Amino acid sequence: MPAVNNVLVVGGGLAGTATAIQLAARGVAVDLIDVMTEVAVLGSGITLQGNALRELRGLGVWERVRREGYSFDSVGLRAPDGTLLVELPDFRTGGPDLPATIGMSRPALARILVHRASEAGAKVRFGLAVAALRGDHTGVDVTFSDGSAGRYDLVVGADGIRSTVRRLLGVELDTRPTGMGIWRVFGPRPASVTRTDLCYGGPCYIAGYCPTGENSLYAYLVEDARNRGVLSAEERLETMRDLASAYHGPWDEIRAALDDPERIHYTWFETHVLPPPWHRGRVVLIGDAVHSCPPTLAQGGAQALEDAAVLTELLTRHSTLDEQLWTAFTDRRHARAKAVVDASNQLGQWLLDREQGDVPGLMHRIAELVSQPA
Ligand SMILES: Cc1cc2nc3c(=O)[nH]c(=O)nc-3n(C[C@H](O)[C@H](O)[C@H](O)COP(=O)(O)OP(=O)(O)OC[C@H]3O[C@@H](n4cnc5c(N)ncnc54)[C@H](O)[C@@H]3O)c2cc1C
Repeated sequence: MPAVNNVLVVGGGLAGTATAIQLAARGVAVDLIDVMTEVAVLGSGITLQGNALRELRGLGVWERVRREGYSFDSVGLRAPDGTLLVELPDFRTGGPDLPATIGMSRPALARILVHRASEAGAKVRFGLAVAALRGDHTGVDVTFSDGSAGRYDLVVGADGIRSTVRRLLGVELDTRPTGMGIWRVFGPRPASVTRTDLCYGGPCYIAGYCPTGENSLYAYLVEDARNRGVLSAEERLETMRDLASAYHGPWDEIRAALDDPERIHYTWFETHVLPPPWHRGRVVLIGDAVHSCPPTLAQGGAQALEDAAVLTELLTRHSTLDEQLWTAFTDRRHARAKAVVDASNQLGQWLLDREQGDVPGLMHRIAELVSQPA
């Protein structure tokens, strides 16, 4: 018998939907809520590494992800003028039967996961947040933002980097900007873009793109963190076009299609890691709520999915929710997620310091680590 019979999952991102799917599929009653009125409209594109794909396969959505995304097994390095310097084989961290990487649209991935959660039996509600939590030895009383209430054996806070559940628990966590900001745009895929290419020269620290489907890609430019929030929509478009004008090859077509400010996102890179424990009483935090990294290794999504896989495995293998279970959880998750966050930050810091670090060595070390099942 699982350690819990009914669970509230707060947050319908990767960590939350994966938790809901695994628990509901094992017969646990799951309520999954998200503050957004429609999860599937969020964001642009995402790069999923092999270890994320292994977890998605465990959730029963691999075929749908493969069909809707764009798989590739190498990464290219280009000069700002578009010259391809080298094409490197990428690590197949999910195993030899999965591609190294898939790019896909975030809304498409969200739709697949939310659909699977409902299919597995989770009750999914959008436009709902947690207003208050009160735990005791046997459960947690939850008051929702619409005034309704519920009592659960466990609450999972999977509500992202600025987690409200974390705040309601009074858990202090210093989230710091890393010093970089990223422009992202979702647009049409030029025929020449068949994998991620990265450029480390020119006015930006990184200029890159990732195909997300037959007809789409997302492209990004990483610069110093600036106060870009003050820019109007038109100014955002102009700024991204201007930065992109230093890059050629496939970027010429990407730039030509840069015409809709609504498809442009700008955000700073931020980071934090919460030391164990990740629970307080019968409330546990997972995913970006406890560890967040800049996407220099594109591992944030994978780490969120791995948290969900390990947590749900322990909840269904143990018959009681006790300290032994919580220790087993952070023993398996904290060091691994922290290693990924530290490495992601290190990659960014080398760029900020214009220092030639051992990038291949670091990539190899993390690939070896995440190739092992979580
Ligand atoms: C610019 C950028 C690019 C990135 N690119 C990649 C990439 O290419 N590959 C990769 O693997 N990772 C990438 N990441 C990291 C990745 O997006 C995150 O690590 C991952 O989404 C974390 O998943 P999560 O479920 O923990 O949190 P989130 O995806 O943030 O999901 C949290 C959910 O909780 C909901 N929520 C928030 N507050 C509440 C509330 N009070 N009540 C209810 N619901 C709430 C939100 O609406 C959201 O749906 C990137 C991150 C950034 C910032």
